[in-house]
Amino acid sequence: MSAYRDHLTTLRRAFPQPVSDQEHDAWFVFSMLRALDRVDDLKSQRPMLGEPQQIDFSKAMLAKVPEGLSTVEEVSKQLVDHLAGMFIWGHPRSQSNVIPPPCIPGILGTLLPAIYNPNLCSEEASRGVALAEAETISMTSALMGYDPQQSGGVFTFGGTATLLYGIRIGIEKCCPGTIRSGLREQPVVVCSDQAHYATSTAAAWLGLGLDNVIKVPTAPNNEMRTCLLESELRRLLREGRKIATIVATMGTTDAFGLDPLEKIREIRDDLVAEFSLDYVPHLHADAVIGWAWSVFNDYDFAKNSLEFPDRTLRALAGTHRRIRHLGLADSIGVDYHKTGFAPYVSSAFFVQKATDLRLITRDQSTTPYLFQSGDYNPGRFTLETTRSGCGPMAALGCLNLMGKTGLRTLLGHLVTMAETLRNRLTAQPAISVMNPDNFGPVTLFRVYPDGVDTFEFPKLEQTNAQNAGLLKEYNEYNRRVFQKVHAEALRGDGIVISMTDRFRETDYGHPVVALKSYIMSPFSDTQYVQAVVDSIERARQQLRSEG
Ligand SMILES: *Cc1c(COP(=O)(O)O)cnc(C)c1O
Repeated sequence: MSAYRDHLTTLRRAFPQPVSDQEHDAWFVFSMLRALDRVDDLKSQRPMLGEPQQIDFSKAMLAKVPEGLSTVEEVSKQLVDHLAGMFIWGHPRSQSNVIPPPCIPGILGTLLPAIYNPNLCSEEASRGVALAEAETISMTSALMGYDPQQSGGVFTFGGTATLLYGIRIGIEKCCPGTIRSGLREQPVVVCSDQAHYATSTAAAWLGLGLDNVIKVPTAPNNEMRTCLLESELRRLLREGRKIATIVATMGTTDAFGLDPLEKIREIRDDLVAEFSLDYVPHLHADAVIGWAWSVFNDYDFAKNSLEFPDRTLRALAGTHRRIRHLGLADSIGVDYHKTGFAPYVSSAFFVQKATDLRLITRDQSTTPYLFQSGDYNPGRFTLETTRSGCGPMAALGCLNLMGKTGLRTLLGHLVTMAETLRNRLTAQPAISVMNPDNFGPVTLFRVYPDGVDTFEFPKLEQTNAQNAGLLKEYNEYNRRVFQKVHAEALRGDGIVISMTDRFRETDYGHPVVALKSYIMSPFSDTQYVQAVVDSIERARQQLRSEG
């Protein structure tokens, strides 16, 4: 037999067998078990896998493709090794960011397509997995207040991509034909100054340019000031500028701010009439974080059958007050991989009217895309050609596992824990919570050295430029507290939180640093909330002794 034939025989064993071969199947499953067993060996009480590691990129730069074949066993070991040092997001002492621990059906939803590799480009190449996409889109549409008979949607490569879609459709609405002719004008995108930078990324990549992203100031609770939005839109329209898309952020990343979507829509509609516009500026809701709270749209807050504590109920109702208007947006971005407990990447873009997707269809002579027609060919308008089935299958797994009750339970628990943390932090004389009226699972706070009046000073440093020097000093102090807390977490006995360099700007334009706890673990509980307070106190003591 020729040499290559020998290798081929070996390689064939490294693929799942195309026809049932129980012995080989068992070995395939066993390789997964072995990998998981190895990962398990990396677990301890610590919120991370294995030992804390210095990441050495210089070594990575020397990597070369090996000359010969390896074995599944050997490669499995190498892959697992790369997980060492990863934080375990599901650990109750992990509170670093809006990164969820994926649930098991979400993981299965990622694993199964990885084996059979459906391509959502067309129904031909994805069959029932295309149905998973249609089902998930319909379920979520209805949840958010769209009519699934009218609405449409598609999975894509992250929240950033949902903004690309939202802005691209807006461009086509205000400057029809640009999909052929390219841009001849410079339309603008309008969002709040707390919008995610992905809005700017999308505007830049679409050729609008960062200078054409207009940022409307926010109120202290991080929601867009609609009176300023109105005057800004009026100014733009008077100058003859075209408005492609207004982005309402429904759950800001750092502080869970929620823009008043209903009011924004009203302002938009009034201005269309007042200026007799021949197009309607597209209204996109960046709800990649907030969408999940739609499960409370039909929760009976008076009855409170899940028996949430009073403060939790108040917080949930506060979010519900804004999120219930999601259906008023022309399009919505959703990240199942944020507040839906799906693994990366699982994001979808929704349009209230599926016919809007016609605007971005490549070949306009072909049938417009509609689920309802049974003609499933998203490849005609999606930005991607190949689209993985992992996103929709993972999302479907998560939604079907939890149902509304499960999501309510999890979100309710996370908010309860965040409320507890805010209470405990507020009780500390050296700490000021920067988003005390917040309704979400994220808490931003600043720590001050001994002797600072935390009742008065946070307001003064925000408003009065005379405090710029002290602001800078305390920003540095917070960075040092964070380094101590982080070092303790890396040693394995602390708590993993994060830091944001600019959770907002002062009235005189300086960045304000804050520490951030984002509680996402279903395993979070009161004692781990207290651990945050304790870890910060230890950090303050160390800094005191270092002088
Ligand atoms: C995370 C985030 C994005 C970007 O989403 P990705 O899935 O990371 O691409 C956009 N907007 C908001 C509000 C976000 O929090």
